[in-house]
Parts: sequence; structure tokens; C-alpha cells
Amino acid sequence: MGTYNSFQVQQQQVLEAAKLLNLDKATTELLLWPQREFKVTIPVRLDSGEVQIFHGYRIQHNYARGPAKGGIRFHPDETVDTIRALAGWMTWKTAVVDLPLGGAKGGVVCNPRVMSQRELEQIARGYIRAIAHSIGIAKDVPAPDVYTNPQTMAWMMDEYETIQGIHEPGVLTDKPRQIGGTEGRRDATARGGVISVREACAHQGVDPRGTYAIQGFGNAGQRAALLHREILGGGTLVAVCDSRTGLHNPKGMNPKDLVTYKLTRGSLEGFPGGKMIPRDDVLKLDVDILYPAALENAINESNAHDIKARIICELANGPTTPEADLILYKKGIHVIPDILASAGGVTVSYFEMVQDQYSYFWDETVVHERLDAKITAGSRAVYEAVQEKKVHPRLGAMVVAVARVAEACKLRGWV
Ligand code: GLU
Repeated sequence: MGTYNSFQVQQQQVLEAAKLLNLDKATTELLLWPQREFKVTIPVRLDSGEVQIFHGYRIQHNYARGPAKGGIRFHPDETVDTIRALAGWMTWKTAVVDLPLGGAKGGVVCNPRVMSQRELEQIARGYIRAIAHSIGIAKDVPAPDVYTNPQTMAWMMDEYETIQGIHEPGVLTDKPRQIGGTEGRRDATARGGVISVREACAHQGVDPRGTYAIQGFGNAGQRAALLHREILGGGTLVAVCDSRTGLHNPKGMNPKDLVTYKLTRGSLEGFPGGKMIPRDDVLKLDVDILYPAALENAINESNAHDIKARIICELANGPTTPEADLILYKKGIHVIPDILASAGGVTVSYFEMVQDQYSYFWDETVVHERLDAKITAGSRAVYEAVQEKKVHPRLGAMVVAVARVAEACKLRGWV
């Protein structure tokens, strides 16, 4: 989305890591491209009675380390290259936190904001009918992403099980708890992000209990607002925005009130606890921690110079363009890269797959502990690479991930 081709950005990151690791030409070429791509059409009868054809994709970037894994997006601006990029980032994300999984992403070009629940259900079921033979617990396991949620997963799982004639809840993750979902999945992305902030603060010597701002107030942004204070033992939320409204209050806003307001009204507009500001200004405030939690390319050449945060925690996938990355690096801003900062979601998805397969479910505290262990170990591996290779954290994380995936490809005899 935007003027950037995210796939080229992602490939560039692979090339830089491959160079630092002295990977041979064939291995590098293999890691640059998705291993499998599916393009499908989904006919849906709309509420108006008319039939519309929707276009969908499922792209499996790499499955050397395990079944491919990654979300499904319903978005009007979806393109094959965004999905390719995001599938690649899933490969690097699962590798950086050392999950036995590969990377995939899917998407349907549609606008959920103007569709009824019935129409969305038809898209979800039609999409699964189209890709049913390419997914499965030992092949590829989808999950929610932008504008999809546990209800979407419930419909999709039901469609898959109906086609296969078996019970196989582990085929999709982030399902409702009653039908094979795990404890702790809904807040997992944000929880992982806040844990990565804790590790970054320790590494950078920053007090995590200062000010913070959140750009994007969907699932990840809302949960981060709440968990920041819970996990780090303090912090003042001074600014937040959703896709329509920005809010600012230097004295701090109550995260719980903001979430309740957003969930009941569907927007932050008119929230009494803060002053309205332009959405983009939320990125430019002088805060200790900034969470970009919306879409790709939010931090770019046009606003990177104005960013004053000390630490940026990328809860969204690909929120910073390569030009902005360089600007932030030169300004001494510490960016916790998306493949680490947003790895909590897929980590708990993996726990969900494990629990579904042996049909025995863990307590929430067990999920939280195991998630913390994975993100902490991933963070430490990244900071070791940062020190060893003298690179910024994004490249450090890519070095860790690319090395692990390259090794798996070599062990299998692919390259
Ligand atoms: N969509 C999430 C992500 O981008 C979660 C993927 C998953 O759980 O498979 O990380």
C-alpha cells in the first residue's frame, strides 16, 4: 500500500542480511522468493441479490522450518506484492523467535466496512473452499490479520472441517476459546510487543515507565495501551489515534476508558479525555515509547525527520520505509523491528496449534510465561547479532532469522 512496493523492501532486507552472512547465490535466490503462490476467485451473492467476484491470494514464502504460518487480511487495497512481502516477513518472524514454522500470508481484496456479516461469512467460506487443499496442520496454518478476527476463523475452520469430514481445529489459529482457541491469544501480539520494549529498554538504559503513544487503535493498539502499564509497571499514555481521529493529553489518558469508548462507539472521535489533533501528529510527539500499530509505511520520508520518540516498537507489519529507517537510525532512535516486536501473535498461535493437536489446554499463566520466554530469547539473539555485526536492530533481527532459515534449507539438501 502507498507508493512503496513492500515486496521489494522485504527482498532488499533479505539481500542485506544474506550479504552479511556470506550466503551463496542459490540460497539467497531461494530466500528471496515465495515457494508457493495461490491466486483464487471467490463468487459471493451479495445482500442485494447480485453476485460479485472477489480476488484472493495465499502465499507460502518458506516452509523449510515447518508448516507455513500467517494471517489472512480482508482489505480493499490488497495486492499480490503486499501479500508476498508479508508472507516473507512471517518466515523471518517465526525464525527470529525460533518457532518450528515457516511463513505465509493470505488476503482477499474487499472492503469489510461496507459489507454485512452474512457477506463476510460468504467470503470467508468461499476463500477456504478455494484454498482448502493447500492448507492444513502439516502444510499451512492461517490466522487473523487486518480486518479479520476469531469469528472469521470460526467460519473458516467450520468450512475446512466440513470439506475434510474431520475435526481438525489446529488448521487455523486465534479461534474462539470454545472451539479450540487458546487462552492468551487475543492480547498476544501486544503482550509480545511490550515484552520486547522491556528488553529494549534494558539494552538501551531507558526507563520504561515514561510516556508512550499509540498509532492505530485496532486489536494490537488497544491491548498495547492496557498491557504497557501492566507489564512495565507504569507509563503515561499521552497520545493515540485510529484511522479517523488523533487524541493528545500530556497529562495522560486512561487506557481502559479509551478502549471502552472505541469499542462502544467504533471510533475515538469525541473522547472527552483528550484534545483532537491530526492523526499523523501522534507519530511526532516527544515520547519515550512509540507504538506504530496500523498499516505498512506509516513512518516514511515525509515524517521520519519529525519523530522524537526514544524507542519505536513496531506492532504493525512493515510500518517503517527503508528511507525512514535510515533517518531514524541516524537520529539515534532505537527501532524494535516488526519481525521481533510483533512476533507475540504467531508465538501464541503456535501454542494454540500444539494444544489443538493434543487436545489439552493450558492455563493463561502458562501461555504468558512461555510467550515471555520466546520473546526474551528472540530479543537477546537479536541484540547479540547487533553487537557482533555492528548493525541496527532490524538488520540484526534479519541476520538471526535468515541464518536459521538458510541452515534449514541446507540441512534439507535444497541448496
Ligand atoms: N497476523 C499475525 C501476524 O502478522 C499473526 C499470524 C499468525 O498467528 O499466524 O503476525
